Amino acid sequence: MTDLAVLAAGFGAIPLTSILLYSFRDWFDRHRDVVWGGLAGVVAFLGLSHAMAFVLEGKPFLAAGGSTAAATVFLSVGLALGALVGWFLFEGPFIGMESTRIIWATASFLALHSVGDGLVLGRDFVGGAVPIVRIDPLAVAATVVHRFVEGALVLIPAIAARWRLRPSFLLLFVSLVTIPAAFVPGLFADSLGLANGSSTTVALSTFLAASEASLALLLLMRGFLPMAGSDRGTRWIAAVVIGFVGISVVHFLVE
Ligand SMILES: [Zn+2]
Repeated sequence: MTDLAVLAAGFGAIPLTSILLYSFRDWFDRHRDVVWGGLAGVVAFLGLSHAMAFVLEGKPFLAAGGSTAAATVFLSVGLALGALVGWFLFEGPFIGMESTRIIWATASFLALHSVGDGLVLGRDFVGGAVPIVRIDPLAVAATVVHRFVEGALVLIPAIAARWRLRPSFLLLFVSLVTIPAAFVPGLFADSLGLANGSSTTVALSTFLAASEASLALLLLMRGFLPMAGSDRGTRWIAAVVIGFVGISVVHFLVE
């Protein structure tokens, strides 16, 4: 049986390796349209397509446990919360520099997304049965790429803001929230029973996915797309498409 702690630690720590990209910071500076465009495609997939598909899939389940109206209100609160966080970080008075706003917004996105990743991972281990986690080379490689790119989402804005190596690396530690999150489904199952625990996990995952979606929308409109499009030319549009399709293909290999 695969050990949840090992998997969760790996999952949590992979984004830290994106710090290797720090050595290529001059290249990133010179190819801003391509780099930020590609990441915009990644955010569009992870935050809008993937997270929103999760919300739409979870909604009938939530409605079955309560009512359609209650599920709609619950998920709308999730959407509003993500938008509020994004608005607070991008438009609030607390962060002065524009380049720093994008960093904290992407770090919040990575934190939210990492909790979601952890919950999904931990859910497969609930109930004592042998988990149905696929451990083949392709799935592992795809998972590594997926988490590495998520680290890059935070690192590239940090490099652009001229953050030094150490604070940039420390910022990537938000991805470690995956590790405690992976144990939450088990805790819910232990304290609430198998059925109630599992529906609580689904409710929490779906709520977080809704917040992730609206935060991603602001991140795209206010962060990645303006940065990608600020240079002349149309290469950035091609980069957005390549980023979107690329991360989609990576997800086809794991899901
Ligand atoms: Zn992920």
